[in-house]
Amino acid sequence: MKYQMIFFDADGTLFDFDRSERHSFAAACADQGIPASPGLYEQYRAINAELWRQLERGEIDQSALRRLRFEKLFSETGISGDAASMNRCYSRRLSECTFLIDGALDICRALHGKCPLIIVTNGIPDIQAPRLKKSALAPYIDHIFISGEIGWQKPHPAFFDHMFRELDIPSDERGQMILLGDSLSSDMKGGRDAGMTTCLYAPQGGGGNETCDYTIQNLMEFLPLVLD
Ligand SMILES: [Mg+2]
Repeated sequence: MKYQMIFFDADGTLFDFDRSERHSFAAACADQGIPASPGLYEQYRAINAELWRQLERGEIDQSALRRLRFEKLFSETGISGDAASMNRCYSRRLSECTFLIDGALDICRALHGKCPLIIVTNGIPDIQAPRLKKSALAPYIDHIFISGEIGWQKPHPAFFDHMFRELDIPSDERGQMILLGDSLSSDMKGGRDAGMTTCLYAPQGGGGNETCDYTIQNLMEFLPLVLD
């Protein structure tokens, strides 16, 4: 192995989060008797994305995000619904969704036992933890760090410091840790600032910048980068 440990981002890297969100949204609307009109999901996504940006800037916390996303959706669209109940329903549906990105299972199987495989994710613990546990990846993953548990998000250095402390990794060995992720702003910037080797997963191609040591378009391309 060329690296001591491998770190994976979860959503958009190993898990097909777009598909999971769309699926869970439709299921939660059906559960709650809300007509899922065309464009409603896209409207929800835009509201949710803006709230996550506010969370990353430290303007709101996670419980506010969970409350506000459906409150805003319902008030903007005139839907009469119970936002708290919709959020609970959606979160439960999402926690059960384990759609994977092509190649995710193959690379985890191929690397399992060769070095520790660790998931580092920005997310809500009671959604992320059950999803991982239920997924086909569970037997291959040695550890998971969830921002909601740590209290800091990637790319904040405190997230990475916490992780290195927990795993007993000295600072001069951080370059022997490789982080594979799909986000330039959280994974690549965070990993680079923390002294790790970074690999961008860019399924649409291109997109790398100076924070990326490697860029791949297909997950299977990751194996030759890390195996001797
Ligand atoms: Mg991601």
